[in-house]
Amino acid sequence: MSETRKARREAATRRGLEFIYRTARDPENFAAYGFDYIFCLHWIASTSRDAALRRDARRMAVERARRWRSEHPAVPEDADAETVAQAVFGGLSADRLGLRDAAFRRGVRRAAARVSAEDLLWFDPAAEPPPADLPADCACGEANPRGRKTCRGCRRRLKRVSRYEVWLLALIRSYLGERYGVKLGAGYADAIRWLPVMRPYPPLSDGYEDFIWAVYAVTHVVYTLNGYSTYKLSPRWLPAEYEFLKDSLDDVIGLADADAAGEMIDSLKSFGLSDRHALIRGGTDFLLATQNADGSWGDVEAEDIYERYHPTLTAVNGLRDYAWTKRALVFPDLAPELRRWSRARTRQGV
Ligand SMILES: [Zn+2]
Repeated sequence: MSETRKARREAATRRGLEFIYRTARDPENFAAYGFDYIFCLHWIASTSRDAALRRDARRMAVERARRWRSEHPAVPEDADAETVAQAVFGGLSADRLGLRDAAFRRGVRRAAARVSAEDLLWFDPAAEPPPADLPADCACGEANPRGRKTCRGCRRRLKRVSRYEVWLLALIRSYLGERYGVKLGAGYADAIRWLPVMRPYPPLSDGYEDFIWAVYAVTHVVYTLNGYSTYKLSPRWLPAEYEFLKDSLDDVIGLADADAAGEMIDSLKSFGLSDRHALIRGGTDFLLATQNADGSWGDVEAEDIYERYHPTLTAVNGLRDYAWTKRALVFPDLAPELRRWSRARTRQGV
């Protein structure tokens, strides 16, 4: 990659980071997504190769984490599932930034113990694989039980939630809970053990919903095993996931989806693809060409700020260089299982 391209990547990354921080400082945005903003800023601060980027992202992350701590001194004992999950996101990120609060964590643990796996993860990974019969929220506002095909309020036909979206949530929450020392619905081992059942991953030609949620599920298999861009991964540990990401990147770029493409690019870098690889070059060109004038990525008309800062985070992640420490798994005990699952796949000739 020429110096000019590297300089363009660095400038685009910098503008993206500044967009994230600028919107994080808006009180309304921070009230809704503060827990996730500090998680995002900490991710950039802790894994970037560029020392100046690390330093500046860290300063932003610490400033926002102090604010988050002051606004969230404790979690109510009877907190609902969303409140508990957000407390884990925010509490873990603030701890990692040096703003440790052991009493807060104990409170989160007590509150988490009172919330069911179904409330936190929409199913119980200890009991069954990610289910395919969860109805999506109906436009009329009625909540519908599992298995229903038509709304019990308005009789409209219900869309179903992709089982890959269900698995994605379980991977993220069980992982963050485990890292924080709080059981968030299930242990991580119970969520990742469904990996063989989720293979093979569906191509776009099988339908958009399952495809795009499979992309996010696979990038989060990567993140939860590489410690959110801390370690490199061997493609031999996750052969089906590596192939799926490589096979799908051009389709995601064809959909003009910077949010998903950004995640796929840094996941592929974790597997060892370099800046010179055609897929990484193509993905980088796509991200450089689609940055908005305000430094963000995604739809500038979107009303939910999540739809603005999240694609900006993932594009920044796709563009920046990483300070990989070594090739390793966050959970080294899973290595034999991953190898066993890969051998089973080879035998099936898939
Ligand atoms: Zn309805």
